[in-house]
Amino acid sequence: MAVVVKTSKMWCPVCGGNVRWSCPSRTGYAYCEYSAKATRAVPVDKIGTMKFCKWQGRVMREKNGEVMLVFAIEDVEAKKG
Ligand SMILES: [Zn+2]
Repeated sequence: MAVVVKTSKMWCPVCGGNVRWSCPSRTGYAYCEYSAKATRAVPVDKIGTMKFCKWQGRVMREKNGEVMLVFAIEDVEAKKG
């Protein structure tokens, strides 16, 4: 079951890494810097040991200008506790 989270903190909820996001208008997208989309920078010999974050999220710009990160975690065990 997916867990949907909305937060103003741009940190990955799974690994604590940076969240890469883009919000050119009122909405945009976001994903973890360690997601499969961002693996260009990962050395080949590290791929076997790295943990990838599968979630993909969206960002929404609130009326007050604050950017909120909205994401759903599926097929990933979120940190417990
Ligand atoms: Zn992550």
